[in-house]
Amino acid sequence: MNQSDDCLFCKIVRGEIPSTKVYEDDTTYAFRDIHPKARVHVLIVPRRHYANAAELASKDPQELAHIVQVAQHIADDAFHGSYRLIFNTGLDAGQSVFHVHAHVLTGETLDE
Ligand code: AMP
Ligand code: ZN
Repeated sequence: MNQSDDCLFCKIVRGEIPSTKVYEDDTTYAFRDIHPKARVHVLIVPRRHYANAAELASKDPQELAHIVQVAQHIADDAFHGSYRLIFNTGLDAGQSVFHVHAHVLTGETLDE
């Protein structure tokens, strides 16, 4: 079985599980988090499966840079360009889906 066959975010990227799309292009998909922690809480994922940010950084650094640009674009639209970008990495840091995803929190003034 391929690593991605049983992956929640691969299924979302393939459209097998519904999501609310915020942005997409050839390499990248962004959708609303179902349990938002800010007025605007978006997850940005590469279409290709990588387990975490470090794996993405080593195998496809251009995509990692692109994800940052997409975050900026979302925040430009939602909240004059201010946002928080989070990559939870590892179980003990709260990573629950092992397909790399950037959390973009924006749309309101965030607590420090
Ligand atoms: P993490 O805990 O950093 O791995 O983030 C996983 C995120 O995915 C959490 O914030 C969840 O609320 C979110 N999530 C889980 N299932 C879905 C889904 N079907 N659609 C959108 N977001 C989801
Ligand atoms: Zn995946």
